[in-house]
Amino acid sequence: MIYKPGRIFLSVPHMGGHEKNYVDKALEDNWVTTVGPNIPGFEHDICQHTNAQHAVALNSGTAAIHLALQAVGVQAGDEVLCSTFTFVASANPILYLGATPVLVESEAETWNMCPQTLRQAIEERLRLGKKLSCILLVHLYGMPAKVKEIMAIAEEYNIPVVEDAAEALGSRYFGHQVGTLGQAGIFSFNGNKIITTSGGGALVTNDKKLADHTRFLAGQAKDAAPHYQHSHMGYNYLLSNISAGIGRGQIEVLERRVKERREVYNFYKERLREKGLEFLPEPKNVFSNRWLTTVLINPELGITPGQLRLALEEQNIDARPLWKPMHLQPLYQSTPYYGDNLSGQLFERGLCLPSSSNLTEEELEKVVKTIERRLGSL
Ligand SMILES: *Cc1c(COP(=O)(O)O)cnc(C)c1O
Repeated sequence: MIYKPGRIFLSVPHMGGHEKNYVDKALEDNWVTTVGPNIPGFEHDICQHTNAQHAVALNSGTAAIHLALQAVGVQAGDEVLCSTFTFVASANPILYLGATPVLVESEAETWNMCPQTLRQAIEERLRLGKKLSCILLVHLYGMPAKVKEIMAIAEEYNIPVVEDAAEALGSRYFGHQVGTLGQAGIFSFNGNKIITTSGGGALVTNDKKLADHTRFLAGQAKDAAPHYQHSHMGYNYLLSNISAGIGRGQIEVLERRVKERREVYNFYKERLREKGLEFLPEPKNVFSNRWLTTVLINPELGITPGQLRLALEEQNIDARPLWKPMHLQPLYQSTPYYGDNLSGQLFERGLCLPSSSNLTEEELEKVVKTIERRLGSL
């Protein structure tokens, strides 16, 4: 799509400055492939930052989810309990494996998987004789889910947890980085995320065997032999050394990006909460990277999120609806779902505001003024 110049986008890449050094070095040394020093370097940086013991750099967050599900043992015919309120890339890898997602509704405090609903879903699926092989827990918009409650249920029923922390790099739960709290976690470095490799992802885990097996599958599952020998079905999922170079530069500024995104959130909140827009607070002991600032529009205002979005669009400002939950997607129409449609209601009432870490004060002011003007004209 071609946009008018001067557009304020939802969430764009924001270079730190050192990316070019890593990429230039890769080109100079001819490490222009999925092998080269930036790969272990970037994996080391991810471990340092998250305190995970192992990281595997991959070419997308989706690939990381696909491999994480396999690594914890998801097989065709199994069921995977998955947050319904998410981007489609969380759920699709369950289908890739021939397994069935069981969609679990959110709770209102964090918008992530509701522990009570999870328990109900598990109990009913077990009564129906299903094999539940994973809980895929999403930390939406960077807000950590209720991990303690979810992990307690997971342990009770002996189901592994994979965290989809694609949007939540840098977020913390009781001091721990999200993504490192289950058997495996994944991050995305897609261009819209808090840091980017232009396209990429990573799996993190404290289980060395799981990490080694993931790396094996991601590189076409080549057996140890001088010829091309294969006993497993693998994938072409490794990250390139060029992309990893961008990642190394980006991770140097991750802390700053988190701070900047949180400042964007605070700017909007200070200016707009009195105008009838609701913001999602951080629960106690939780630190969100505030990847995207989301607002709920009080129905008493007499304006829909769609109308507000169009007012912003007229000013060349990119605002987006919240993720449309999976249980409302045509693709997942006949998929089992547990819940009261809370996320469907949030979808009806919510909007994502431009949240890039490189927004200028002038741009933020323009977004706020546009919203104030539209609300004032009611
Ligand atoms: C972006 C995203 C993904 C997928 O990551 P890619 O790197 O784009 O493949 C998965 N889950 C969620 C919640 C995401 O936001």
